[in-house]
Amino acid sequence: MSIIVMKFGGTSVADIDCIKNVANKVAAQYKKNKKIIVVVSAMSGTTNNLIDLTRQVSKVSNSPEYDVVVSSGEQVTAGLLSIALNSQEIPSRSFMGWQIPVLTDNTFSKANIAEISIDVLMQSLNRNEIAVIPGFQGVTDENQITTLGRGGSDTSAVAIASALNAKRCDIYTDVDGIYTADPRMVPKAKKLDKISYEEMLEMASQGAKVLQTRSVALAMKYKLKIKVLSSFENKEGTLVLHEDEIMEKKNVSGIAFSLDEAKLTVIGIPDKPGQASILFKSLGLKAINVDMIAQSSSANKSATDLSFTVPKNELEEAINTIKSVQKKIGFKSIISDRDVAKISVIGIGMKTQAGVAQKMFDILAEKNINLKVISTSEIKISVLIEAAYMELAARSLHTAFELDES
Ligand code: ASP
Ligand code: MG
Repeated sequence: MSIIVMKFGGTSVADIDCIKNVANKVAAQYKKNKKIIVVVSAMSGTTNNLIDLTRQVSKVSNSPEYDVVVSSGEQVTAGLLSIALNSQEIPSRSFMGWQIPVLTDNTFSKANIAEISIDVLMQSLNRNEIAVIPGFQGVTDENQITTLGRGGSDTSAVAIASALNAKRCDIYTDVDGIYTADPRMVPKAKKLDKISYEEMLEMASQGAKVLQTRSVALAMKYKLKIKVLSSFENKEGTLVLHEDEIMEKKNVSGIAFSLDEAKLTVIGIPDKPGQASILFKSLGLKAINVDMIAQSSSANKSATDLSFTVPKNELEEAINTIKSVQKKIGFKSIISDRDVAKISVIGIGMKTQAGVAQKMFDILAEKNINLKVISTSEIKISVLIEAAYMELAARSLHTAFELDES
């Protein structure tokens, strides 16, 4: 019998009634298929509260003790769900990350999973128990608790499913699947039956918040099917799978947008080899993710300006980091802009069809929206615009690329 991993997000376990609802869903699945592993998030809002508590003591967020505090929300929901299952006479017990163990590196607050031992979980399955695992947490080989970054319980679930060679990882959330765009911003968005790993990866990293980006990359690597579905409604959901299993490859399958990035411009970088390397290496050492990059030559030609985006919540740290290499690089100044939005159009059909970028730029030009930075990949075009135009841009592009619900 094949194993299914069921993962429940924060809104699905938001209070005791929700946890009882989850227990019923898990129990129903257990009656069909005994081989189930459950991964849970913390109750919605809990992780934010825990982070806030640490901030009241210290601003440092990448210390081991920060992870001790922040990982605790998931322990509570894992225990509560097991209690709820046991009270229905269903054998279940919880296993914390360190008890399995889910081994990670020591990048506290955004650790990477290195290895998951399956012995403890296989024994639990063989006892016909339902193992409930708190997502988001792991342990280093020096026995320190770690967390996997915001939204990391998706990655826990996918990693555990891959390690166990599960048939599928079902991610239960508060939406009933993946949409062509976030329906709260684009009311005409449509639910997709299927989406390829690559598209989902772009959607997730460009701002669609349903799945943590790393979870999608991991699923793609191990060819593990993910199903995204609602905890509250009995609807089909969306399958995330290999593009070969999708017949109709659209030019544009979805539009993503995000206000999570800020733009930095480093002005007057002496124009010689190795400068970008020093700059981005310094950010990389602090684990600050750089996304869009554009370089232009300054008026005096011997220097260049470099613009790029970083997560808004890491802007200050990014500025300080870059200032620390100012002498080495010899740039003049640095300016930042928080008032930006990134809009991306995504589709695997772009691999073979030209003209998508042109169409995107035409539509934004018609609406008089200025482009600050552009970046592309094989299946994605992203532009950075003034934040105030995000909704207009998203809706116009959604209509123009024929994604609207008819
Ligand atoms: N509780 C963690 C967070 O809020 C992890 C998760 O829910 O995936 O980021
Ligand atoms: Mg989540």
